[in-house]
Amino acid sequence: MDEQKIWAHSGDSHFIEPEDLFNQILPPALAKRMPWSEKVSDHEEIVHIDGKEFRRPLPKIATKKINGVSMSELSSRPPGARDIRARLADLDQEGIWAEVVYSSLGMWDQNLTDVALVKAAAAAQNEWRIKEVQGVAPDRLIAVAALPLLDVEASVQEAKHAAELGFKAIGMPAPGLPNSSTYNHSITPLNDDAWEPLWAFMEEAGLVAAFHIGGDAGEHTVYRGPGGAVLNYTNSTFSGQRAAMLMVASGALDRHPDLKVLISEAGATWVPFLGERMNEGYRQHGMFVRPTLSRSPKEILFDQVYASFQHEDIAIAAMMHMGYDKVMFGSDYPHLEGTYGHTQKTLHELVDDAPADVRYRVTQGAFKELFPHVSDPPAS
Ligand code: MN
Repeated sequence: MDEQKIWAHSGDSHFIEPEDLFNQILPPALAKRMPWSEKVSDHEEIVHIDGKEFRRPLPKIATKKINGVSMSELSSRPPGARDIRARLADLDQEGIWAEVVYSSLGMWDQNLTDVALVKAAAAAQNEWRIKEVQGVAPDRLIAVAALPLLDVEASVQEAKHAAELGFKAIGMPAPGLPNSSTYNHSITPLNDDAWEPLWAFMEEAGLVAAFHIGGDAGEHTVYRGPGGAVLNYTNSTFSGQRAAMLMVASGALDRHPDLKVLISEAGATWVPFLGERMNEGYRQHGMFVRPTLSRSPKEILFDQVYASFQHEDIAIAAMMHMGYDKVMFGSDYPHLEGTYGHTQKTLHELVDDAPADVRYRVTQGAFKELFPHVSDPPAS
């Protein structure tokens, strides 16, 4: 193995909110309605969201090793998970330079259903994130802005506020299935033309539409019984595919060719598959298709949808052999699904055998297309 340090940007990372964040930034009556997590046993947590409860399994702490790192080490939080300044030391150690930094508790916001609450929460969280997350290292950390998604017009206004604050990415909801019991019908579906003013503004302002999988609380425990852990983990990726599908089929990305989408943590090889499948639908069901598109669904996906993966060793093949080049690494720091503790080993395994241009594109190049303002890592 080549021992040289590989620097990569990450399209998928998170900060963990301070314990009392919502009390610091919101009036008490609103703060207590925001998402909070209650660990009920070593194996389960309850996420409380404005009077609703969602149970989800916690990763089991086992003694077996993955990539030479014990599971118990991975389960304990890295030093910089909450402390953004300490985080930079973790990133330097792992070889991550710039990263898209999603929230943690804030990921559950798409399950809220009260307009006044989401308006106040989005504005307050954005003021905090721009200062306390992105502001710590603006050339390396890209905080993701929240929108009050229950109200389209308010979302456009908050996107303008976010752009003024200096955000480069806007968090959008990766949806569950519309007929599931937890689907939030208070959010206008992504394929609805009502969102048009938001897409127009984001395109004009150069704001990336950032979708992180698993935002619908019900998506985490769809299956029980044999195979449940793998079934639920795999199922959670489909929300990202659904988001991309909605943005393409609705014509939103076709009408706004400079609007870029990032799907985080869902892998990358699904994109060629989805493009083929959508092309088949577009062609074989052509008599039912509306709106018609100026490019094929696959072309739109390949042009405007970026995908981050952490361990997927066939992602490089999607780029080299399937013509899809919007592929980027994501460490998913500080999560168990991520590469903390073994990022260098993972990166070497992924890219050591790839040609130099492919290697650069996966580790830095695709990311720089979305966020050209970030600085470059030190020469390794
Ligand atoms: Mn993630």
